[in-house]
Amino acid sequence: MVDKKYTVIDAHCHIYPEKIAERAVAGTDAFYDTHATCHGVASELLEIGNRAGIDHFVIQSVATSPKQVASINAFIAASVATAPERFTGLGAAHPECADQEEVVSQIKELGLHGIKIHPDIQGFAIDDRRMFRLYELCEAEGLPILMHTGDHRYDFSNPNRLLPVLKAFPNLVVIGAHFGGWSVWDDAVRAFDRIPNLYVDCSSTFPFVNDDLVFVKNLIDYYGADRVLFGSDFPMWDPVHELETFMKLNLSESERRMILADNAKKVYKI
Ligand SMILES: [Zn+2]
Repeated sequence: MVDKKYTVIDAHCHIYPEKIAERAVAGTDAFYDTHATCHGVASELLEIGNRAGIDHFVIQSVATSPKQVASINAFIAASVATAPERFTGLGAAHPECADQEEVVSQIKELGLHGIKIHPDIQGFAIDDRRMFRLYELCEAEGLPILMHTGDHRYDFSNPNRLLPVLKAFPNLVVIGAHFGGWSVWDDAVRAFDRIPNLYVDCSSTFPFVNDDLVFVKNLIDYYGADRVLFGSDFPMWDPVHELETFMKLNLSESERRMILADNAKKVYKI
């Protein structure tokens, strides 16, 4: 249980409907050659939160086809409704949706606080022109986009793809998951020199660098503690373990407060 002087928001959690969770988690396991620690259902998050002192979760799901977008958005909103004090929901989007305005208006009507995209799994580049209308709408509506970023195996979500979008949409708030470039952290650090509309989260990093605390602390120092959000990438990793590892980092109390809650509150308007 984390010291209760800290409010904790896990700002990166994937959830699925009970009856497809096992299949969905197996899909991500295969994509990343991992074995998820948890099952990926909302009730499990609430139980983990009670056990570990995690107060709030930002929940999301990724649409692998355009026809999934509306049903995922409805599912995330229904999940938030089961525990509105504990959950904030992000909507899904897809480049092949015929009407991006309709997607954004559904997301707003459902009371979702942003959008999650995963270019590598969805198979499009962040700077794909088909996404520009969505970015423009999100920029105008103040909807942040959490993007999976980085994969050394592909060229969909690497820093060279994100940078032009950050520049073309200077008021679009982007949260680059996994410190802005999973598995390509050196490229991320080179590319993103204090970009004002970019935040990052710390999810899916500790397990891939063997819990190297100095490496992660350097990434935090690079972006600044006011730009980093705590996230676990549940169900791939157990939020309890991720939080325990995070608490071992050599950070000040005020840096911890920013990363564990204040930045997420600001960015996602929680
Ligand atoms: Zn994710």
